[in-house]
Amino acid sequence: MPQLLRYVGLDVGGTTMKAAVVDDQGHAFPHVSLPTEPERGQDVGLETMCQTIRKAVTAAGLTLDDIAAIGVATPGTMDLKTGYILDPPNLKPWRNVPVRDHIAHVFGKPTAFQNDANAAAMGEYWTGAGAGVRSLVMFTLGTGVGGGIIVNGEVLEGEHSHGAELGHMKIEMSHPRLCGCGKRGCLEAYASATAVVKRTEEALADVPSPKLHQLRQEKKLTARAIFDAAKEGDPLAVRIVDETAAILALGAANLMHIINPEMVVFAGGMVEAGDWFLQQIRRHVPNFAFPVPAERTQIRFAQLGSDAGFIGAAACARQLVQGALRR
Ligand SMILES: [Zn+2]
Repeated sequence: MPQLLRYVGLDVGGTTMKAAVVDDQGHAFPHVSLPTEPERGQDVGLETMCQTIRKAVTAAGLTLDDIAAIGVATPGTMDLKTGYILDPPNLKPWRNVPVRDHIAHVFGKPTAFQNDANAAAMGEYWTGAGAGVRSLVMFTLGTGVGGGIIVNGEVLEGEHSHGAELGHMKIEMSHPRLCGCGKRGCLEAYASATAVVKRTEEALADVPSPKLHQLRQEKKLTARAIFDAAKEGDPLAVRIVDETAAILALGAANLMHIINPEMVVFAGGMVEAGDWFLQQIRRHVPNFAFPVPAERTQIRFAQLGSDAGFIGAAACARQLVQGALRR
């Protein structure tokens, strides 16, 4: 019987690094994590990456000889072709870090390097919501809006490592909101968790909502609390959530007209709102999309939570050895 190949996937976040061994079928061994502590500098960061990888191999009861390849996912900015992190806002003060070649050199293994949002989309594509589909677009809704596009098993990286920046597609240009990126009218400025809170705070100036007003007074006005208030029927919260669903449907419809994917996946904290939110997004899609994609594109929530990053990083490692997942 041929031996089942195994990979290590490492997901480097601003606060923690997570890694696990993942086998050729996408089954993950128990994951491990270590604090990233970017403020200690990039040399320490690279060493912590190596430690996290070694810990994951040990946690799986294996040795490095059992590992065919390694995949590393990090926040950007980055240059995927050279394997460098360039100037990452979430990993200050790191700058120009040769991640891929460092890991490849230390472990002597083929090493894949990927943007964290792309890796998460790849994870969902391999073993999560998108298992079995050929093409998938994923929006990750958090402080910002991340994106990943997978077509025929390949991550759409783009020529300059700037593909699939879905959060910065422009959706409103008449009174455009300012985005964290410095430009105006981006999806992220409307539909990130942060933006949902901001829109609610602004609306509170004109619309009375004792419930939301109280939450704001107590500094507990989070996207989660707004969604909970909508579930309880608070009219302003209902309006904000419905507008958010419409904005996400617009974003999804734009991608339907560009990529025509088999599935659109939403990930991040708002996913916890539950199926009713997904239904609302689906209800708005026909207002923006052609009838065929509006009817046929599957719209789902992500399934892997924060494991998607390291599973996707492992999928990228697998691709180095085995080629693309589905064609
Ligand atoms: Zn932007």
